[in-house]
Amino acid sequence: MTVIVVGAGVVGCAVAYELSARGAGVRVVDARGTGQGATRASAGMLAPYIEGHSDALLRLGIWSLDQYEGFLARVAADARRPVEYRRTGTLQVARTDRGAEHLRERQRALADLGVVASLLNGDEVRRSEPALADVRAGLRVPQHGYVRVAALIEALVGAAVTHGAVFSDVRVEGITRQGGGAAVETAQGRIAGDAVILAAGSWSGGIPIDGPAPPVRPVRGQLLQLRLPQPPLSHVVWGPNCYLVPWQDGRVLVGATSEDVGFDERVTSEGVATLLDSARRLVPALGGATFEDARAGLRPATADELPIIGRSATMPGVCYATGHYRNGVLLAPITASLVADLVLGGHERPELTLVRPDRFGL
Ligand SMILES: Cc1cc2nc3c(=O)[nH]c(=O)nc-3n(C[C@H](O)[C@H](O)[C@H](O)COP(=O)(O)OP(=O)(O)OC[C@H]3O[C@@H](n4cnc5c(N)ncnc54)[C@H](O)[C@@H]3O)c2cc1C
Repeated sequence: MTVIVVGAGVVGCAVAYELSARGAGVRVVDARGTGQGATRASAGMLAPYIEGHSDALLRLGIWSLDQYEGFLARVAADARRPVEYRRTGTLQVARTDRGAEHLRERQRALADLGVVASLLNGDEVRRSEPALADVRAGLRVPQHGYVRVAALIEALVGAAVTHGAVFSDVRVEGITRQGGGAAVETAQGRIAGDAVILAAGSWSGGIPIDGPAPPVRPVRGQLLQLRLPQPPLSHVVWGPNCYLVPWQDGRVLVGATSEDVGFDERVTSEGVATLLDSARRLVPALGGATFEDARAGLRPATADELPIIGRSATMPGVCYATGHYRNGVLLAPITASLVADLVLGGHERPELTLVRPDRFGL
C-alpha cells in the first residue's frame, strides 16, 4: 500500500514513521522541509493533567503519554539516535494565597481522577527548586515530562527513511480523487497513492479538496530559548504567566504566548519582552542567561480543542490527522497508531469516536 502524507510537522512525521514501520510505502510532502510549522516552536511538554482540558482531551492525552516510552524507544532504535526525553514532573507554582488555594483545588480534582499529585508549601518548593523566586505553594505532578522536539523530528524522519519513506520538499496545491485512492497535486506534478493523510496543521483548511474544508484556525505561540551553564531547575515549572522547560544541557525554553493573529508567524518584540519578564520574575538567574533564539508557531485549533482524526466522508481515500492545537507533541504517538490501524488495517479503534471528522461535517 502507498500512502501520501501532506505535512511534515510532528504529526505528519509520526504518522509517516508508524505507517512505514508497519510496511507501507510512504511519501511525505511539505514545502518547508521537516519539523517546521507549529512543531518548530513547540516546548515539547508531555503534560495531559494540566488544567483546562476536556474529559475527552484528558483521556487522549493519558493514552498517548502511556505509549510515549515504547514509541520513543522504537523510533530511537530504528533511527539509531537518542532523543532527550525525561519524566521530570511538572511543578505548578503560586505566588499568592489565592493561587495556593487554587492549587489545593487542583490537587483534589486530580485525586478524583486517581492521580497522585503533591502539594508543597513555600519552603518545600524552595528546597526542591532553589532557583525559584519566592512562591507560596507548588503542585507537583510526577507523571509529566518533556521531549526535545527537534531531536524527536530528526529521529522520526531518520527512522521513517530507514523503513523506506521518502520526504519531498514540495507544496501540495490540491487533493483529488484517483481510482479507489487519492492523489495530491503539486507544482512538480501529481502524486497518486492508495491513501492521503492530511496533516498540514493550521494550513489544513486551505488545501483545495472535494468537500468541506477542515475548520482549523491558527493560534500563534511565541517561545524563547535561553541558556545557562547548568540547568537551573529539575522540574518543568508552570508559573502564573509562563512555563519553563529545563533541558539537560542548561538550555531553558520559556513559553508561551497565545495570540489570535491569523497566519502571522512573526516573533514580536512584545512577545519576547513579556516572556522574558515573566521568566526572570520566576527564576531571577535567567536574567544572566544567554538569549539563544525566539520562535513562533501557529497552533492548529479546532472549536472543541480536540484533533480531527479519521476518514473523510466525501473522499474515502483521504484521512485527516490535524487540529492538535496545544498538544500535537503529546498526542503524536496515539495519532500515529490510530491512523495506521485505520489506513492499513481498516480498523476503527474506539478512541476514534472522540476525534471523528464527522462532528464537523467532514
Ligand atoms: C509556542 C508553542 C508551544 C507548544 N508547546 C507544546 C507542548 O509543550 N506540548 C505539545 O504537545 N504541544 C505543544 N504545542 C503544540 C504543537 O506544537 C502542535 O500541536 C503541533 O506542532 C502540530 O503539529 P502538526 O504536524 O499538526 O502541524 P505543524 O507543525 O504546523 O506542521 C504542518 C506542516 O504542514 C505543512 N504544510 C502546510 N501547507 C502545506 C501544503 N499546502 N503542502 C505541503 N505542506 C504543507 C507546513 O509547512 C508544516 O510543516 C506548542 C505549540 C506552540 C506554537
